[in-house]
Amino acid sequence: MTDDINVTETTENNDKEYEDICMLCRRPESKAGKMITMQGGICLCADCLQKTLNSLEDSGAMQVFNFPPMPGMPTGAIGNNGNDGSSDSDKGNGDKNNNDMGMGGFGDVFRFFMGDMGNIPQNQKLKKKKAKPKTDEPDVMAKFDIKNLKPPHVIKAELDDYVVGQEHAKKVMSVAVYNHYKRAFDEAKDGIELEKSNMLMIGPTGCGKTYLVKTLAKLLNVPLAIADATSLTEAGYIGDDVESVVSKLLAAADNDVERAEKGIIFIDEIDKLAKKHTTNSRDVSGESVQQGLLKLLEGAEIEVPVGAMSKNAMVPMTTIDTSNILFIVGGAFPDLEAIIKRRMNKASAAGFLGELKDKYDGEKDILSQVKTEDLREFGMIPEFLGRLPVVFTLKPLTKEDMIRILTTPKNAIVKQYKKLLAMDEVDLQFDEDALEALADRAMERDIGARALRAIIEEIMLDIMYEIPKDDNIGTVVITKDYVTNNGAPGIIMRNAQLPG
Ligand code: ADP
Repeated sequence: MTDDINVTETTENNDKEYEDICMLCRRPESKAGKMITMQGGICLCADCLQKTLNSLEDSGAMQVFNFPPMPGMPTGAIGNNGNDGSSDSDKGNGDKNNNDMGMGGFGDVFRFFMGDMGNIPQNQKLKKKKAKPKTDEPDVMAKFDIKNLKPPHVIKAELDDYVVGQEHAKKVMSVAVYNHYKRAFDEAKDGIELEKSNMLMIGPTGCGKTYLVKTLAKLLNVPLAIADATSLTEAGYIGDDVESVVSKLLAAADNDVERAEKGIIFIDEIDKLAKKHTTNSRDVSGESVQQGLLKLLEGAEIEVPVGAMSKNAMVPMTTIDTSNILFIVGGAFPDLEAIIKRRMNKASAAGFLGELKDKYDGEKDILSQVKTEDLREFGMIPEFLGRLPVVFTLKPLTKEDMIRILTTPKNAIVKQYKKLLAMDEVDLQFDEDALEALADRAMERDIGARALRAIIEEIMLDIMYEIPKDDNIGTVVITKDYVTNNGAPGIIMRNAQLPG
């Protein structure tokens, strides 16, 4: 017997635009699973084929025969003669030996019972759903290895697309991250051990510390865990113990230990862990959390619960090695400037005669002169600082930075609102002085760029509510007066007669 029935898995047809449909139950392939295609293009789902065979068998219309394994069908279910379905895959294409054992018989019986019902016409078939278009999001499963590691200038250029200003911070981070991953991928057994490049970033609130780290992790396609130092407690106290940050990272890596071990942990508000200066205070919690973090920063094997934040008997545990995890800690470090000034003034007063003891009082950007001793004075313990070799500062954002943040990054807030209104076919414009007024209002709040979103959301609320009511509105102009609550936005109707 020859190819009476061509039993082929429809995976071969996956590139077809239309789905196959079961001739009996009329369900499409996406509902009923893979189809078996017979001679003449007739398709049957596994369920219907099974039912048909069962009823044929019950009625004695056919003998037990050997049938090749079918997708979605339990092996041995079709009255076969002990074929476990695991043998050679050619069977699915009408293997001759199999056909000799009854395939042809089945084909004849099948045609007899089904008659010439024909194939389902194309116009009764469902069009396959289109695969979702790929976004520019990095592929989560893309392999991250030394060959794919981006050099510092590329990392910096990509950060530039999102983060405004902070040139020094972006440069330092790009180099540190590059070195860190070179170290993480280093397998040479030459006795030269590269040191970890854990980082400490100092900068006022809302200047982009968290945003920089988030952007970096996204660009590198590594998992990121963000924790707040104030929520961390010593082991045994109420709160999250320090190891919970590693659990968070494992969760961010979808429980993939290998990915987690190359991830980034960002601990914000690290300055809140400073030692208290009052010597009679019994509150040593911040200091002991710093102590607790030491072994994580250095590299240790940590037992963490899988799929939960706390250890208990019901939760499986796994071990994570933190040696290649990049730790970045950040904080605003209020009063650090005063400490730095004091040190610098003291040094200059002790130097040449005639140097003023308050020489540095009026100096701008004093923070960038920070030294380890200033941070020690602030209350960070030396062992902790010793494990954070890369220290850098971020600048407070200027009004110009704020305006650029509104308009230039890839996903700038203004671009987002323009896109939203463009979907209603409305053109949204911002006057130059309106942007300035927005920046001014944000500067007043003194919480950095964080204020921008809040303010723009506030002023856009009425517009987003009112505009879709009237189809005739073609353009909305955000003016300075509107931003400063002294007037309404400019509205231009569609087909409006231009003056003149
Ligand atoms: P913090 O320094 O307190 O961690 P964030 O990084 O959380 O501040 O900043 C808050 C928000 O402000 C960010 O989500 C981002 O949208 C915006 N932002 C802050 N700084 C910048 C910057 N330099 N460039 C672009 N956006 C920024």
